[in-house]
Amino acid sequence: MISVNQALDEILEVVKPLAGERVSLFEASGRVLAEDILSRRDVPPFTNSAMDGYALRHEDTIDATEDSPITLQVLEVIQAGRVPAKEIRAGTASKIMTGAIFPNGANAVVKVEDTSERNRSVLIKTHASKGSNIRNSGEDIRSGQTILKRGRVLLPADIGLLASVGRAFVLVHQIPKVAILSTGDELSEVDVPLSPGQIVNSNAYTLAAAVREAGAQPVPLAIAQDTMDATHSALEEALRHNVVLSTGGVSVGDFDFVKSAMDQIGIKRLFWKIAQKPGNPLTFGVRGDHLYFGLPGNPVSALVCFYLYVAPALRRMAGFRKIFFPTVEVTMAEKIKEAKGLTEFIRCKLTRRVNGREAQLTGTQSSGALSSLSLGDSLVIGDADKDVLAEGTKAMAIILDR
Ligand code: AMP
Ligand code: MG
Repeated sequence: MISVNQALDEILEVVKPLAGERVSLFEASGRVLAEDILSRRDVPPFTNSAMDGYALRHEDTIDATEDSPITLQVLEVIQAGRVPAKEIRAGTASKIMTGAIFPNGANAVVKVEDTSERNRSVLIKTHASKGSNIRNSGEDIRSGQTILKRGRVLLPADIGLLASVGRAFVLVHQIPKVAILSTGDELSEVDVPLSPGQIVNSNAYTLAAAVREAGAQPVPLAIAQDTMDATHSALEEALRHNVVLSTGGVSVGDFDFVKSAMDQIGIKRLFWKIAQKPGNPLTFGVRGDHLYFGLPGNPVSALVCFYLYVAPALRRMAGFRKIFFPTVEVTMAEKIKEAKGLTEFIRCKLTRRVNGREAQLTGTQSSGALSSLSLGDSLVIGDADKDVLAEGTKAMAIILDR
């Protein structure tokens, strides 16, 4: 049996970010950049007006006030998207719209609110300082500048930047495709009446949701019966995907075939059994670039193992640098008995108090009782060396709400 930290080390040792794929900007948000992005143009691409107003020479406005405005001849109206035809000389101005190309000869814009139109002239009622209300070409981004670095999780503003520098496609890390394989003769589909001894294959749904939440793509497979043949061929089929998650069949029962099937199809097992509760019988192996997690069948064990080991692996494969759930220090609001020698992950709900966060158990800690995980928002990490976590004790908790 290995420790929780040894298990995590063994897994992360072999997990690498997947290669890049080119995706359109519409698909890129939330994905992780697999290239540095260099701008090949200035943004804005040309000097333009920041206001609707008049482009003019600031020297002409030095004496202009509300009470004694100066008059300038208007040469033309420059619309956004059009090229100015006239050069501004002393005593002249051009009416200009926000975002329109700034005309030659001018050096300031006076906003329309500080002017009055008079036939083909304009009264300027304020002094304009040099450069006012002008957006210079390249003032946001310079050609040749690195605007986004590899590893960046793309946000809406980043997508806009990419568009403004003319990148319609970007290289992002591929999203891992994760096969979900449920083993067990007792498993039934969700939408059929249960025969005696049968339960719903809830793990497939739980894990599909968890895979999505981790930013990966679930691929649900058919239920595999508890025979060597069925387990063997289901695993072989599943291994076409980047990652395989199976549930059940990994313990020491008479009908647990996962470990021997792993051996038969050449999955190299890196460990089996972790000194933890729930989730003790987790096994992990690799075949080529493919990862295999043999999760326990108990619904809580399966999901807790997913959170602890699979989610960080999937996030790393998708290129994320932040791969772990956050942890916080909490105070136990009640005592809980622990299994000595095992690191326990205790389903809790946290409440804010003036002196920090308090952790309350959410109910039975049985590995089959998913309701207490549903009610909880965190896993308090027990102390492997103690057999009780007393009320008032400080502990670390993994926050499951992202
Ligand atoms: P196993 O590890 O196969 O012995 O399964 C342990 C427990 O988890 C048993 O009570 C199973 O019925 C239950 N279990 C196994 N697979 C699933 C599943 N896909 N959905 C819900 N419960 C399951
Ligand atoms: Mg089973």
